[in-house]
Amino acid sequence: MIYIADVPDDDDGLDEDFPLGDGTADTEAAVECPYCGEPVVIGLDPGSGPRQEYVEDCQVCCRPWQVSVTYAADGSARVRVDASDGGWDD
Ligand SMILES: [Zn+2]
Repeated sequence: MIYIADVPDDDDGLDEDFPLGDGTADTEAAVECPYCGEPVVIGLDPGSGPRQEYVEDCQVCCRPWQVSVTYAADGSARVRVDASDGGWDD
């Protein structure tokens, strides 16, 4: 089993089981396109880790979003999408 998480020491007795990939984490999120303003439901991949950033094209206007996903300990996802050509990432 590959466990992608920032675990500095796995035998220190702490029980920080993160429910990613076991069916309890959110696998989709409703967002609003920063370009066209349309509501879009996007799929998430909990197995990719508790913090993710990637580019995904809007399903409506096909412009690229910069997507930021953060999972809470209970598996709920907070998703933010920004216009990736807005110049904040240069
Ligand atoms: Zn759009």
